[in-house]
Amino acid sequence: MSTPAKVVVVGGGVAGLATAWLVRARAAEAGAPIELTVLESDGVAGGHTRSDRVDGFLCEHGPNGFLDNEPRTLELVERVGLASRLRRARPEAARRYIMRAARLRELQMSPLRFLGSDAVTLGTKLRMGLEPFVPQRRDGTDESVAEFGTRRLGAGFAASLLDPMVSGIFAGDSRTLSLKAAFPKMAELEAEHGGLFRAMLARGLRARRAAKAAKAAGETRPTPRGGPAGPGGTLHTFPEGMGELTLRLASELAAAVRTGARVTAVTRDGERFGVRVGAETLAADAIVVAVPAPAAAELVAALDPRAQAALAAIPYAGVTVACRGYALESLDRPLEGFGVLVRRGEPVRALGALCSDRIFEGQAPEGARLLRLILGGAQDPGIVDLSPDELEGVVQNDLATLFGAHGAPRLRQDYSWRRGIAQYTIGHLERVAEVERLERSSTGLYFTGAAYRGVSVNGCVKDAFAVSERLVRALVAARARRGASAAA
Ligand SMILES: Cc1cc2nc3c(=O)[nH]c(=O)nc-3n(C[C@H](O)[C@H](O)[C@H](O)COP(=O)(O)OP(=O)(O)OC[C@H]3O[C@@H](n4cnc5c(N)ncnc54)[C@H](O)[C@@H]3O)c2cc1C
Repeated sequence: MSTPAKVVVVGGGVAGLATAWLVRARAAEAGAPIELTVLESDGVAGGHTRSDRVDGFLCEHGPNGFLDNEPRTLELVERVGLASRLRRARPEAARRYIMRAARLRELQMSPLRFLGSDAVTLGTKLRMGLEPFVPQRRDGTDESVAEFGTRRLGAGFAASLLDPMVSGIFAGDSRTLSLKAAFPKMAELEAEHGGLFRAMLARGLRARRAAKAAKAAGETRPTPRGGPAGPGGTLHTFPEGMGELTLRLASELAAAVRTGARVTAVTRDGERFGVRVGAETLAADAIVVAVPAPAAAELVAALDPRAQAALAAIPYAGVTVACRGYALESLDRPLEGFGVLVRRGEPVRALGALCSDRIFEGQAPEGARLLRLILGGAQDPGIVDLSPDELEGVVQNDLATLFGAHGAPRLRQDYSWRRGIAQYTIGHLERVAEVERLERSSTGLYFTGAAYRGVSVNGCVKDAFAVSERLVRALVAARARRGASAAA
């Protein structure tokens, strides 16, 4: 019997856990024996993807859901036996609001309704109407998300809609985020169709043709549409929150997961790696680094200074999540809908607020509302340094302004992340290329997680599939080589 290959995954967030689970499953399918270890510095696995049930309220530390437009996430959910626990967003979560000039205004998704809405000014709408006449940019250089939005749809759109939306996803600054790295589909749409309205028309036409062809072929599948979470997908979670996914992965990996194990360095000795944890050094044939980029930079300092510099240059936005539960009578304006995005310059400091129990059933007790403020981000880095009292002052002011909240909340639960969300700023693709160069030049070393090719849970899971496939393929090939040389 051959000795099992030692595989070490550093980091037990959703990326590390999913990769570890898939490596184990794929290795078993390929008949390649492995000894797997996941090293997580925290006392509990899960990273940002954790949930707490407190006094009947469901509080998410980080992600509150994922869109069902990434088949790999649905596949993983199915394979770990959680498919029957999936819960879709309520239909009323399709209603979203934006704060403009100190008032909440509904964001209309259909073009005609948008024209009649007061989410942006008339001047902004008129300028947006000129988009089909804006020439396509052909120089191929990267530009910021704000530059792209201003060029195609005008400065009003970029400031009043695009920037708050970007804050809602990346907690980022649209003026520094790279369009190609953060929103590659947008860049592709312009490259393919010459503009966004043209792309919308072409896609609509394609969808209608596909529906017609499906009808002619006697298929009854519904045509995919945008759902409550926005275009291209419907938001999903589990009854006990997104933490169910990481809990299930960790419990299936069982003893392979070591918590309270902070890795301080990765070294190389010939074909093998050394993983330093406290005074101990674990030997590994393959390593998956699934920690935030600044932590990854520290780990590879001795291996490759160029990759270390690239990793260290991936910035993070600090984010604080403030969950507050209220009796409905304590809210003068208990919003029915997904939540509110806030433009910069409004009398609210939060980037936005979610009405968690309006998005998903079962997240608040009967007669109560769970509100979740997202504060901080790249444009308000000071938030993570506030004292608890200062933070409470900000939260109470924001909730009073947005929802007319008064009196003491029934629930107070805060989560603060200094390394909250990776920022794919201009130059991100080059930094990732540098990390990928290190991967190619060091057989057996892999990097995955939200820092590189997708910041969402879906992005992490998709990458986990790709990395686990490459890793197991390499293990199988190395085993075959060893077998061949032993036989010779
Ligand atoms: C507030 C917030 C809201 C979000 N909302 C959404 C959402 O609604 N939908 C969505 O799809 N995404 C959302 N995201 C993004 C999503 O949470 C991340 O993409 C995902 O959780 C990242 O997973 P990860 O495993 O890459 O990183 P992490 O979750 O950060 O996990 C990394 C792990 O590595 C460990 N670690 C660090 N250093 C070491 C070390 N030296 N040794 C060992 N272990 C170490 C950490 O303790 C951590 O457990 C949100 C993020 C935040 C912060």
